[in-house]
Amino acid sequence: MKTLIVANWKCNPTTLAEAKWLFDSVKKGVKKIKKAEVVVCPPSIYLSELKSQDSTLKIGAQNCFWEKEGAYTGEISALMLKNIGCQYIIVGHSERRKYFNETDEIVNKKLKSVLDAGLLPILCIGETKKERDQGKTDKVLKKQIETDLKGIKNLKATLRGVRFASSKIKNLILAYEPIWAIGSGKPCDVEEAQKAGLLIKKIISNLFNIKIAEKIQILYGGSVNSKNAEGYIKEAGLDGLLVGGASLKSNEFVRIVKSVLN
Ligand code: PEP
Repeated sequence: MKTLIVANWKCNPTTLAEAKWLFDSVKKGVKKIKKAEVVVCPPSIYLSELKSQDSTLKIGAQNCFWEKEGAYTGEISALMLKNIGCQYIIVGHSERRKYFNETDEIVNKKLKSVLDAGLLPILCIGETKKERDQGKTDKVLKKQIETDLKGIKNLKATLRGVRFASSKIKNLILAYEPIWAIGSGKPCDVEEAQKAGLLIKKIISNLFNIKIAEKIQILYGGSVNSKNAEGYIKEAGLDGLLVGGASLKSNEFVRIVKSVLN
């Protein structure tokens, strides 16, 4: 499986010209790289403009709505995102949970809509500083995963086809993003990220089965830069990275991609 490196541009940049420049320079920088899957998630308004003509750089969205269509002013559905060429959608980012009151129940609906559209959801989970200080990380991650994935297992029964259900769930990508590490310049230790990755595999294995747990990719996100990126992949054995702030500087982002491949 290729290492997956995802850029989350968040609400940046403010002009299409800057977005195009950033996208093109990342594209140029990763052109010859075959061992990594590189995905850029810009603000949705730029998605159709940035759509790659070749497969060098994939595009993803930072959010979606859970219904396919209808009277939901201001929303963009997973199906619409698929139809303009998106392959990935970030779901449940902590900034959406915090600033837009996205609960695990909402995240669950969004996740189902992304899987139903046949896209690859990047589900973000992670604990706050307070929860970590109180030793609640494991409990928090378990609750988030169980609620965010609730009902997805039931597809097996409804459709009487384990293969169909598992082919969808295996598309899931989980990003462990400790909230205290996001945008703080204080990245999680490699050992701690590794521990979280193993715990996530265990929770998925209990919910589904070991084969699915093995297939699901686990990313780390939180103050990743070109100096610390390598450790999460080579030492912690994680499958990729979700990069926020550092993905807005093309040189730094390309260095991150290259650093995990050597
Ligand atoms: C993120 O927004 O998902 C993220 C990891 O941000 P940063 O890299 O800036 O901490």
